[in-house]
Amino acid sequence: MESPLAPLIKQLQRLPGIGPRSAERLAFVLLSWSRTDVQTFARTLVDTHQSIIYCETCFNICLTSPCTICCDPTRNPHSLCVVAYPQDIVALSKTNAYNGLFHVLGGLISPLDGVQPDMLRIQELLKRLDLGQFSEVILAISPTLEGDATALYLTDCLARFSNLSVTTLAFGLPVGAQLDYADPLTLQRSLEQRRQI
Ligand SMILES: [Zn+2]
Repeated sequence: MESPLAPLIKQLQRLPGIGPRSAERLAFVLLSWSRTDVQTFARTLVDTHQSIIYCETCFNICLTSPCTICCDPTRNPHSLCVVAYPQDIVALSKTNAYNGLFHVLGGLISPLDGVQPDMLRIQELLKRLDLGQFSEVILAISPTLEGDATALYLTDCLARFSNLSVTTLAFGLPVGAQLDYADPLTLQRSLEQRRQI
């Protein structure tokens, strides 16, 4: 007989890092909550999902576009840090080592997963660079197979901007590592020792 918790366990298992046993444990925790707490949890999940939009400039997640980073006058408007995912901005912001602007690609080139360059926000990046505001681009991309392929592709695209300093993070970071899993100190060092490509 199927457990009455089976549908919930099945949903929880969709989360990364959650196997059948963790999902079962979480399901029992949720079951022990009051009805009010469960309703607050569920409503927050739906509300957050509904209210989050993407910044029209940098494609970071935000509640109003342009996002707070793009609108922040204290940031260096000449430095642009290119990342794959919005969570990478969170990781890099924790280092306090970078005070420029960002551009979120929305993924990494991965032919095996069917992700082609035109599915990322590379044209939007080039359009921003065409405006001539930036003197530096930092490719803050994880040193994975997909990350390397993306960085290589971007380097080619950026070659036509002759006045642009293009750097990549000094790793520091273990090869194959996901950027948002790196500890802030390692990430800070990678930023400070970024190298020209
Ligand atoms: Zn933005």
